[in-house]
Amino acid sequence: MLNDKIKNLIENLKQGKKLSLQDFTYILENYSKDDFDYIKDTAQKLAIEKFGKKIYFRGIIEFSNICKNDCIYCGIRRSNDNVDRYRLTKDEILECCQEGYEFGYRTFVLQSGEDGHFTDEVMVDVVKSIREKFPDCAITLSIGERSRESYQKLFYAGANRFLLRHEAANKELYEKIHPAVQKWEERFRCLKDLKEIGYQVGAGMMVGVPHQSLENLAEDLVFIQDFRPHMVGIGPFIPHKDTPYRDEKAGSIEVSLLCLSLVRIMLPNVLLPSTTALGSLGGDGRQQGVLHGCNVVMPNLSPMSVRKKYLLYDNKSGVDLDAKTSIETLRKQMEDIGYEVIVTRGDFKE
Ligand code: SAH
Repeated sequence: MLNDKIKNLIENLKQGKKLSLQDFTYILENYSKDDFDYIKDTAQKLAIEKFGKKIYFRGIIEFSNICKNDCIYCGIRRSNDNVDRYRLTKDEILECCQEGYEFGYRTFVLQSGEDGHFTDEVMVDVVKSIREKFPDCAITLSIGERSRESYQKLFYAGANRFLLRHEAANKELYEKIHPAVQKWEERFRCLKDLKEIGYQVGAGMMVGVPHQSLENLAEDLVFIQDFRPHMVGIGPFIPHKDTPYRDEKAGSIEVSLLCLSLVRIMLPNVLLPSTTALGSLGGDGRQQGVLHGCNVVMPNLSPMSVRKKYLLYDNKSGVDLDAKTSIETLRKQMEDIGYEVIVTRGDFKE
């Protein structure tokens, strides 16, 4: 049985009307199996209307697991002494890009901890080198909080997109899952600067991180609705054995999928990855993401030698697959559900 109120809210969202915090909370707290399926179908149809049954793929290069931050949930947090720390050289990063290019990747996502070695000078040099060698590719950075000047320099150097999940729109929640020196205000300052500079910007959050209520998640959806990021990353929280959250439950896949669908409906053109975390909780999470409105997947392009060292959570999928096998596996997974993986930059279009 469809809940009439939820059906109406989804209809409004689809027509571009904004939902309130109460509306999103109502959906998250009251949806039934039928409502869930209805929301999924709506999101899936919209994604197909906008992108066809085509999935963009981005190669993610995890170039350093050294981090000055201490996010309570994250496996590579500074306080975790069990991490074997590494950083790749510029040449190693370029080799990953080269390998990826040959397999058809046209977007490189450079992700890392907040590693002080990568000053503006060093990072600008990396970005410029990729830009020169791969002029037809998009460069996405996911390297955390920096000054506006720094973001500006990296943009001039040739970076096009930036992923910086907002993590929690609710300030109290943000403060519970981060140490006091990591400021909620600063996270949002960064997102605003990135957008103003002209990056295609990605925000997002984990579902089911400790202390998070459904109302908190609704606040995240309201933030996304107002900020209108070009990309949104949402995946379940998964505990890591060497963090204070080791004994916490993983977030719900179902609620993650529901949030992804709601984002697709509120921002029909958004670039929405079916995240690694979704695929890591076992089963067909990544395929489910696509069926719930996602249109991007991000296989790992990091060198095999470092894959097992970049673990934000336990049981991360894909760490044993080389670049060729990951893309083939992915292609097959997508074909199995009637989708096709396509070679293109896949920029955000209004
Ligand atoms: N240092 C960069 C990259 C962070 S890692 C930055 O600050 O943006 C990318 C994302 O992984 C994080 O934004 C977080 O939302 C997610 N993540 C971290 N730990 C996780 C965990 N235990 N379970 C699920 N996702 C996690």
